[in-house]
Amino acid sequence: MIGITALVPAEVIYSCGEAALDLNNFVPNSKLEPEEKLCAWTAIWRELVLRGKVKIDKLVVVAGGDCYNALVEGEKVELAGKPTHYFTYPFDRDSKVMQEELNALAEFLGGIKEEAFDEVAELKKLALEIHEMRCNGEVSAEKGFLIEVSGSDLMGSLEKYRSAIEEVREEEVDYEYRVALLGIPPIYPDFHAFLQEVGMHVVFDEMPFEFIRHSGKNLKEVARSYANYTFAGHIKHRLRFLESQLRRHRVDAVIHFQQFACHHKLEDRLLRDYLYEKLGYPYMTIEADLPSPTPQQARLRLEAFAERLREVW
Ligand code: SF4
Repeated sequence: MIGITALVPAEVIYSCGEAALDLNNFVPNSKLEPEEKLCAWTAIWRELVLRGKVKIDKLVVVAGGDCYNALVEGEKVELAGKPTHYFTYPFDRDSKVMQEELNALAEFLGGIKEEAFDEVAELKKLALEIHEMRCNGEVSAEKGFLIEVSGSDLMGSLEKYRSAIEEVREEEVDYEYRVALLGIPPIYPDFHAFLQEVGMHVVFDEMPFEFIRHSGKNLKEVARSYANYTFAGHIKHRLRFLESQLRRHRVDAVIHFQQFACHHKLEDRLLRDYLYEKLGYPYMTIEADLPSPTPQQARLRLEAFAERLREVW
């Protein structure tokens, strides 16, 4: 089992005969309070691994281009004896450099054994179909989010992920506004359900959508696709991508979810300037620290935001 700390191409991990486990998926429901922390996500997965609460054989840390806080936590896990590899996204989106990163990753995992590229690509295509149903109001944001956010590790098993997709049933979702949730996924496990309660249907989860959007039928295609991962590289590409996706998803409003001590917080001003000031989308920022149900103060602010939308639309 290969622990991953952010988006690492699962296509390569499964093709090396290994299974991926996204350590972040244990965080929102964790009760652990780490003593030494900046970002709660990295501090909690570090403790879960060091205390043996989550069992992994090797660790792949995304050390650049996406999350920068994970680097030192990865070093701590490595110094405690866990074989660890540091994976970096090229800032200039060079697919040749990306391919070298994929080759180094494959080498760390013992080399490509049985190619799983086609099967992973097919599963991601099915996940994109669930995403379309969610956009059409045929699947709740909560259920759609679970499928999309699990696109990072495919639930640790391709069969398990396939079953989870097949179990999603069409339903009728009642909502007033179509919302895009930008930034890192919420650390509050009930966040999507709460938004639904106040009439806001999340039709676009920025980062989880990236998890299912990137794929490829071989290493070269995977490198080309992941080189365009929008959280890595210059933010100008991400802003352009967001503009097109907000239009495509017919979004009424934007919520930027940010995390205490995360460098992505610094992007809030750029996102606000572009999406609110330039494009005119109603915009609000929520900041979280430790995992918990959505706190009362955030609920009140979100309810007030929904009220404001009733005045705007
Ligand atoms: S919230 Fe930011 S610092 Fe924390 S794990 Fe995510 S990207 Fe890294």
